[in-house]
Amino acid sequence: MSKKVFKDLVSVEEAKSIVESFAVSRKVEEIKLENALGRIVARDYEAGIDVPPFDRSTMDGYAVIAEDTFEAEEDSSVKLKIVGRIGAGDFLEVELKRGEAIEISTGAPIPKGANAVVMEEYTAESDGFVRIYKSVAPGENIMFAGSDIMAGELVIREGTVLSPREIGVLSALGIAEVEVYSKPKVAVFSTGNELVKPGGKLGKGKIYDVNAYTLMNSIEEDGGEAVFLGIARDNADEIRKMIEQALDYDIILCSGGTSAGAGDMIYRILDEWEPGVLVHGIAVRPGKPTIIASLGNKPAFGLPGNPTSALMIYSIFVSPLIRRLSGLGEEKSTEIEAKLAVKVFSSSGKTEFLPVNLVSGEEGFSAYPVSGHYSGAITSLAESDGFIHIPAEKVIAEVGERFTVKLFSEEIKPADLMVIGSHCIGLDVIFRLLRKRIPDLRFKIINVGSSGGISAIKRGEADIAGIHLLDESAEYNVPYLKRYGVKNAVLVKGYLREQGIIVAKGNPLGIRSVEDIIEKKTRIVNRNRGSGTRILFDMYLKEIAEKRGEKFKELTGKIKGYTIEAKSHSSVAVAVLMGKADAGIGIRTVAEQYGLDFIPLRGEEYDFLIPKAKFSTWKIQQFMEVLTSDELSNSLPPGLKIYKRTGEIIKL
Ligand code: AMP
Ligand code: MG
Repeated sequence: MSKKVFKDLVSVEEAKSIVESFAVSRKVEEIKLENALGRIVARDYEAGIDVPPFDRSTMDGYAVIAEDTFEAEEDSSVKLKIVGRIGAGDFLEVELKRGEAIEISTGAPIPKGANAVVMEEYTAESDGFVRIYKSVAPGENIMFAGSDIMAGELVIREGTVLSPREIGVLSALGIAEVEVYSKPKVAVFSTGNELVKPGGKLGKGKIYDVNAYTLMNSIEEDGGEAVFLGIARDNADEIRKMIEQALDYDIILCSGGTSAGAGDMIYRILDEWEPGVLVHGIAVRPGKPTIIASLGNKPAFGLPGNPTSALMIYSIFVSPLIRRLSGLGEEKSTEIEAKLAVKVFSSSGKTEFLPVNLVSGEEGFSAYPVSGHYSGAITSLAESDGFIHIPAEKVIAEVGERFTVKLFSEEIKPADLMVIGSHCIGLDVIFRLLRKRIPDLRFKIINVGSSGGISAIKRGEADIAGIHLLDESAEYNVPYLKRYGVKNAVLVKGYLREQGIIVAKGNPLGIRSVEDIIEKKTRIVNRNRGSGTRILFDMYLKEIAEKRGEKFKELTGKIKGYTIEAKSHSSVAVAVLMGKADAGIGIRTVAEQYGLDFIPLRGEEYDFLIPKAKFSTWKIQQFMEVLTSDELSNSLPPGLKIYKRTGEIIKL
């Protein structure tokens, strides 16, 4: 294998085949049955004995010769002489003759001569005799030797994951120790000066180590045994020591410091061994700065520090190797076909693995890309069901295009309520209250903005879509729904979100109105075109322009920052908080969250679009009850308000 350098990215396929060519093999060990849960059996097991080993009674009652009972009926009994008693675990040498019975317990061996058992319930005992009130057929209430497992039968196959049930079978056969595949031992360490172990104190500029935990648990899930060696500073000696320690294990897995930057030295250090680094950089997104190395014969992986990248790269390149060694089988995930719900721009020349959230609709599954994974938001993976694979040469993936989704787990959990649209903190409050009424309610909230929510309702994927679209006519939502031609849903009026001007604490510029923004030459941050907040701001500006006899374009041209577009309320607040702007339009809730000042302008109508077909369902009715409850009104955070129209239903 030749060495690759970072400038020379290898393809996903090439990197996979390098991992496949690692000459490592499974090991087998013998373990006690009581420790075998979840382990993978390393060979076929055949039964060495019959189970049960002898004919035994399945009832408490009397062992008899069936022919003696043929005349027995409810009103005319047959009388038999009791010649013995036999309990579970006993053995009687007596041989039963015609006219005789032996009292027998469940699980006791059937005495010689007997061929059936009469249940206790159909008998009456007195003076050493038993009266039988019901006839039995030969073989009745007897479990015959080998009827469960016959000696020589193949009972457990190689590769079986041992559950309590299989362990039960092995114990019935008297097997005390079982041969299983040894768990591959994987040494894990994190690198980075910024990392602190969870539980420790977070100093300035530090973050908690995430990768050690996601990776160790993934290793366990794949049947490996993870051993955490700790966190190494970005310091060659420390990292080298860590690697030397890691050589005691089967596989070496570290994260962070894999780029080609100044502080990144994993690459150099891994290359101090022979043959050293085989891959540095894969044409994949996320996760380009990935290292695959061989230290002696030990596979070593350097994963990117970004937690979502690390986990994706792990599942694509490392997981198959660990599963091969653990005996679980290389392919973990099951696959599902889905249509892409939104357009995706992918990078050319790189294979992209895009985490998605799956939603089932009238025409099968739709895949919603999960946001935030490029920046390493760990929640983006927690929210996703699986990922799609966009080939390197593909740049745009269109809405409706079919993809195969690799699932992270064996099955996806369907949600009882799909909430797709614009997200609002108020929704979280509603669902907290809804959970109190329906404790096992499973819901999914996907944030795709108001118009994304409308599309999801039209496609039959959403049960509820939160929307807040302001039309030029100054009316919320209804004009948009008419324009989009939404006919299969009703609009339920929600709550008011107080919109206003977000400024720094103490309002240092003394801003009181939108006019002040212009007068005081304020630096603003605007919202993205198409957002309700942007439309609202422009409406105020148009009014002002008219009053002044100025052109709209002229006016906006004078506002510093008018062209800077933040994509969410929070980003506006953060821009003000960090002093990048003096003011921005947004909701009070967010201003308060960030401890900023707020000058109210008007209430934005945040409403819910609900499919007609679902409206009368119990869950939606519960939602409606919560929406109009005092409890909600008391629980909403500042800036969100129930009003007289809350709960009003508008037919479209
Ligand atoms: P690096 O690959 O070292 O350049 O790191 C990329 C990003 O991931 C940086 O923002 C790091 O702070 C972050 N990071 C690195 N290692 C970890 C880790 N173990 N847990 C969480 N974040 C990490
Ligand atoms: Mg680093």
